Amino acid sequence: MKAVNAYPPSLRRCLEELQKLPGIGPKSAQRILFHLLERGAGASVELAETLLALGKRVERCPDCRAFKEAGAACALCGDPSRDGRLLCIVESAADVLLIEGTGEFRGHYHVLHGLLSPMKGIHPEQLGLEVLDRRLGGGTVEEVILATPPTAEGEATASYLANHLAGRVAQISRIAYGLPVGTDFQYVDTLTLSRALSGRRRFL
Ligand SMILES: [Zn+2]
Repeated sequence: MKAVNAYPPSLRRCLEELQKLPGIGPKSAQRILFHLLERGAGASVELAETLLALGKRVERCPDCRAFKEAGAACALCGDPSRDGRLLCIVESAADVLLIEGTGEFRGHYHVLHGLLSPMKGIHPEQLGLEVLDRRLGGGTVEEVILATPPTAEGEATASYLANHLAGRVAQISRIAYGLPVGTDFQYVDTLTLSRALSGRRRFL
């Protein structure tokens, strides 16, 4: 887009940054940019301050690796009403929100922050296995539910984790295949995800 070269440098830089976000192409970036400019300086400053706080005030929980407010207890790990015997392993923190939305699960979580993928350079040591091992070492977990998506990478990760956990927990389960094969969690409705979770089957 040659016309972009006519923009002031600050606008161009903002456009470039916006386009680094998932699902934001040149046209969407321009729409967001002009929306902010039309709303006046206050809107940009408010958004910038919110993003700044996101970077400074949000951190990974050392126990489940979901995101939490810095210095505060984890809303998931710190909730005494949750069932410590159940541990659900998910690909991303967004998946925690999706599963919470089903209302089917009241156990604890482990967030992998990725799936095993030699192509993307994601190896076992990046999945927080030492955190997982520490939690299992506590002796309260009786069942681990492998809730990675039914994609090639999700299945490979589930198999790897099943082998890693074999003999160290009473039951290892895999969520049922109620989901369309090859579909990412983000595009599945809550009811389908809920059924898949309640219909989980023994994996190993
Ligand atoms: Zn936590």
